[in-house]
Amino acid sequence: MKAFNSLDVQSVLPEALKPLETIAMNLRWTWRPQSERLFRSIDDHLWRETGHNPIQLLQRLPASRLRELSTDADFLHRMEQELEELESYLEQDRWYAKQTRGTEDANTTVAYFSMEFGIAQSLPIYSGGLGVLSGDHMKSASDLGAPVIGIGLLYTYGYFSQTLSREGWQQENYTTHPTEGLAVAPVLDERGKQLHVGIQFPENRMVDVAVWKVVVGNATLLLLDTNIDTNPEDFRSITDRLYGGDVEHRIKQELVLGVGGVRAVQRFCELSGQPHPDVYHMNEGHAGFLGVERIGQIMVQGESFETALAAVRASTIFTTHTPVPAGIDRFDLHLVQRYLQGNDHGTSELVAGGVPVHRILELGADEDPSRFNMAHLGLRLVQYANGVAKLHGAVSRSMFRNLYPNFDIDEVPITSITNGVHSQTWTRGSMKSVVAAMSGGRELATANHWHEADAVGDQELWRIRNELRADLVTRARRLVRQSWLARGAEEAELGWTRSMLDPNALTIGFARRVSTYKRLTLMLQNPERLRRILTNADRPVQFIIAGKAHPADMGGKQLLQELIRFADEAGVRDRFVFLPDYDVTMAKFLVAGSDIWLNNPIRPQEASGTSGMKAVMNGCLTLSTSDGWWDELRDDRYGWTIPDVPTDDQRQRDLLESEALYDLIEFEIAPMFFDRDATGLPKEWVSRVRTSMSEVGPQVTAERMVRDYCTELYIPAGRSSRAVRDLSAPRQFAEWQQRVREAWPKVVVRDVRNETEQPITGGNVQLSAHVELGELQEQDVRVEVLIGEVDESGDLDKPQALPMTRDEEGEPGRWVAQVPFDVPGKFGFTVRAVPQHTLLRSPAEMGLVQFPRS
Ligand SMILES: *Cc1c(COP(=O)(O)O)cnc(C)c1O
Repeated sequence: MKAFNSLDVQSVLPEALKPLETIAMNLRWTWRPQSERLFRSIDDHLWRETGHNPIQLLQRLPASRLRELSTDADFLHRMEQELEELESYLEQDRWYAKQTRGTEDANTTVAYFSMEFGIAQSLPIYSGGLGVLSGDHMKSASDLGAPVIGIGLLYTYGYFSQTLSREGWQQENYTTHPTEGLAVAPVLDERGKQLHVGIQFPENRMVDVAVWKVVVGNATLLLLDTNIDTNPEDFRSITDRLYGGDVEHRIKQELVLGVGGVRAVQRFCELSGQPHPDVYHMNEGHAGFLGVERIGQIMVQGESFETALAAVRASTIFTTHTPVPAGIDRFDLHLVQRYLQGNDHGTSELVAGGVPVHRILELGADEDPSRFNMAHLGLRLVQYANGVAKLHGAVSRSMFRNLYPNFDIDEVPITSITNGVHSQTWTRGSMKSVVAAMSGGRELATANHWHEADAVGDQELWRIRNELRADLVTRARRLVRQSWLARGAEEAELGWTRSMLDPNALTIGFARRVSTYKRLTLMLQNPERLRRILTNADRPVQFIIAGKAHPADMGGKQLLQELIRFADEAGVRDRFVFLPDYDVTMAKFLVAGSDIWLNNPIRPQEASGTSGMKAVMNGCLTLSTSDGWWDELRDDRYGWTIPDVPTDDQRQRDLLESEALYDLIEFEIAPMFFDRDATGLPKEWVSRVRTSMSEVGPQVTAERMVRDYCTELYIPAGRSSRAVRDLSAPRQFAEWQQRVREAWPKVVVRDVRNETEQPITGGNVQLSAHVELGELQEQDVRVEVLIGEVDESGDLDKPQALPMTRDEEGEPGRWVAQVPFDVPGKFGFTVRAVPQHTLLRSPAEMGLVQFPRS
């Protein structure tokens, strides 16, 4: 029969249970297992059904259960404990405050922009690695008290969930996530209404953006949302889904994030009585348009574009995340032009201040003149740039070297800070006590080495490893069964799933976004050999695999299908399984329950990779190509490195590297795993687990990463931001740059001499040069000796730069340096002049240099 009408029945939380709301609204619970258990204990089934979402859990509870809980003394006691713990967590004196007490650095605030944040499964605004990284950044910032405000987008649908068709083809499912059921609260303005900011789009249309707030421990994350009544349909859909839609959809999202984000965070700060952020951090190029808005804000005050740019550069950080040129966000130039909306004066209507459109286009100029490159925009907007692992830093310096002409790759001002993962989030319950014991009770957030590696006995460590593996096997069986039911199989056909996988087999985990360079199917290069490894009776090996392909990536979906077909058809379905719908919850038990975490990207295309770091925290050992973070931390004492076969013939490379992969598994890893003593203990294996956890663990935490961001980037950028706060400083700097550019051709270095006839170790060598400064002053120019070993082609190899000073006694224009030599050998040297100014961070920024003329 038809319903006559409908009505909405809402549940009301009894007064006694109100603290649950407080605990649920602070995402601190996501890394506090006791709080998570508290929610789960309310209704285990509903907990899973809501996707681990306490807000929805509370909304959907029947009144009878609520009444029951409000008189359950044990429950109320646990709830009070969690509330108290949260309150005391929020009050603690934290690392950043201690580091900066009594200095101006204590007042720095960093606005951290990212397209995705992976904090909890129940806040679905992430797709993969970048999001999980930003989420972990926020959590660690909270633990350390680092002054970070996050800015992102609130997506109506989030990212898709993955199911499979009968044929193993990926299907995407999108569900809406109404804000009532999320841990978001409106930011309120002076009138008590939700804060909105506007952005001017082409044809004089205004996008209305609502601002939400998420509380992550001590830290705040602001989320921007265009899905509101005041917007027409095409604007409501701007924040519909992550990485969906066409390029125009994408540029709209990036404008909302960049331009809207600056406005939102500044208004938020005003409303909460704090100064505007002084440092802006773009986590990947998606946020690049924030620079356009900030330039406009300075030009409104009557400053020139150059002054504004100098002030923005001094206070902005750009983190690049891809070593692959094809991975960079690039827009059609005309599209950018249209959204910048040049008027008759050639200035942009997008932002205030009369920003000249052609100057913005120059900042994003690409090798291809028809494109606008968001990474180039990012780099040209900052004085602080970094990659996310040492190797990635080096690759980025070479990839972007053309932006810094006339300087060697080593001088390209892109540093690196290696990624990390939030240890409290990613260490499974039983391993948490191991980590606590190994770190000897030291504060995890600041420990660089877990010195008490032996605090946990071999038997105990092995027992926990077995427990985690068994847990993974149980969950995998359930997921595979569910997946087959969804693929149309009958219960009766699925008896085998109850006994599939072996809780004692060597378990190799592999889960990641499906992209070509990650080589999901490298393990399938030789299916026969793989089958032999899997079915070895004495040393059984099993693979558990997960990953999503981008909805538009047909090649990626084909790879997935190939893998799933192998699992279905090769007679190894109980040893080789694919788990659909990889997300953070799955990642947690997958990285913990595997013995080996396999990572086989094409070197050097993985910027860092973080899933392997999560594995380390749980005592899983690493098997990887020498790429990303593993390139700098790899060691045969706790992992295996797949040798690199650098050839352009990709087929050949895959073949050779996969054979090496099989060899490692078959001849080294499996024998070690199954080498047991009389008590059944794999002594060597457990010893490696211990070494990996205690030595690598503390180096791959997000706590270490955020500390590095603070000391290497946030604090210095805060200082240079303060140095340009009074705009007369960047104004003079901009004028100075102009003057130096014009005068530079007349700076001449010549007549370089070595004035020490017989250099000996332990003594100094005096080098000198004649330098003509033309119209410049001595303080405008730095003259330096570059000295180092010479390679076959006559180039100085990573030379050291030593300052030269004006020779007061000698002839006019003569500069000298005393170079101490400690070790004997053959060295080369040269002299160069570069511009010098307190607001210039790297000589490469201006691209100006003079070498000796012969
Ligand atoms: C950690 C994580 C990633 C990133 O893993 P990579 O090793 O960087 O590929 C992606 N997705 C999810 C769900 C994760 O938890």
